[in-house]
Amino acid sequence: MRPLLLALLTALSLGASAAARLPNVIIIFADDLGYGDLGCYGHPTIRTPNLDRMAAEGLRLTQFYSAAEVCTPSRAALMTGRYPVRSGMAHNQFRVLRAVSTGGLPQSELTMAEALKSSGYRTGIIGKWHLGVWANDRPEHHPLNHGFDFHFGLMHSNDMNPSDKPKPKKANALVEQDPEWWNAALYRGRELLEPRTDQTQLTKRYTEEAVKFIDENKARPFFLYMPHTFPHTPLFASERFKGRSPRGIYGDVLAELDWSVGEVLKALKDRSIADDTLVFFTSDNGPWTWMGAETGGSAGLLRDGKGSTWEGGMRVPGIAWWPGRIKPGVSDAVMTTMDLLPTVARLAAVELPTDRPYDGQDAATVLFEGKTLEREVFCYYRGEDLFAARLGDWKAHFITQGSYGDPKPVKHERPLLFNLAVDPSEAHDIGEQHPDVIKRITAAVEAHRARTPKAPSQLIETVPVSK
Ligand code: MG
Repeated sequence: MRPLLLALLTALSLGASAAARLPNVIIIFADDLGYGDLGCYGHPTIRTPNLDRMAAEGLRLTQFYSAAEVCTPSRAALMTGRYPVRSGMAHNQFRVLRAVSTGGLPQSELTMAEALKSSGYRTGIIGKWHLGVWANDRPEHHPLNHGFDFHFGLMHSNDMNPSDKPKPKKANALVEQDPEWWNAALYRGRELLEPRTDQTQLTKRYTEEAVKFIDENKARPFFLYMPHTFPHTPLFASERFKGRSPRGIYGDVLAELDWSVGEVLKALKDRSIADDTLVFFTSDNGPWTWMGAETGGSAGLLRDGKGSTWEGGMRVPGIAWWPGRIKPGVSDAVMTTMDLLPTVARLAAVELPTDRPYDGQDAATVLFEGKTLEREVFCYYRGEDLFAARLGDWKAHFITQGSYGDPKPVKHERPLLFNLAVDPSEAHDIGEQHPDVIKRITAAVEAHRARTPKAPSQLIETVPVSK
């Protein structure tokens, strides 16, 4: 179908108010933010008034999932609407791309930016990319070669290129940071701005760039992807926020992130384009629970955190906001980051290619009609291996392993079984009483495996790590 005809049909289905133009899309993606780390998700001492207001005005999702347990595969899933194993963006040992990696998201994948660009959107990424390091003689890995018109940010995590300066063990977990420990290189497009940027200024600078991007593109549909560097450790906050939160530096960092979200929403309101903009806030994976008491986040009532396939590793905050289109409320519909691509593609009148399967589903009925999704099984991968699966309220664990640092996977002859509706903390294995449910989930997983081939991993490192 031609884009113009699709645009017309989309506008008709959205109603008269949206007929004037295709909606802007903004995705704000925190790094390692836990399910329990926001005021509106129950944290007692972290102050997030802007996110709390966004949730009160929009839809707060209580069963929203990142499609992976760590950074790189999670971002691949968000950008492609597909399980990361399909694009080779997962690996059991390496887990994520590093500063020395030469692999990256294959060009054959269609990113959300490419999809929206095909419908006339201006596209920008401000923040952490982590889907390939173009500086390693791999120009194809640059976000500008994956559908983005504009780029400002870091290529990967802020701890991935440590400097030669002597530092304590596990330095990124410390509250007191020496900025010279980390070579976090900041780029604008292909230009290296600063080989060691001042990380205390990053959130502020991302925000200023975002407001500028919004201002420059306010007259046309745009897609802004804002993957923040924090609260991934090492943690840095600017002077205005440092030392203010009762939660310590982690609370300071989140207060600044929250301020940033407020500035973005304010920029939309000030330019009278809030009614034309879908904003979605979420996190790439659960919290780094084994960091220090002050520098690691919280998954709230969920079990474990980043790196694991327990709920705390992958269930994250999810807030959708679109004044006039999304009714204020709370939804317990199961949704994942993979759903965002099909959802925004329909809003933007993009016809996705039919030569590949999509694992995400159009979630318009959840966002705009207060319904749940008829969903096939949702699978939890750790690296390239399927560890657990959710079908309805039931979750079966075939293999379990804790966060980073927990060395041994445990294979369960009889899978562990939890009813997440009544036991979201996964505290009571009731598999013994429900062999029929385990049988159903096992069959669903076998069908999933049959339709989900794994591409060769892009995360294997071929370049030795230089110290
Ligand atoms: Mg992360």
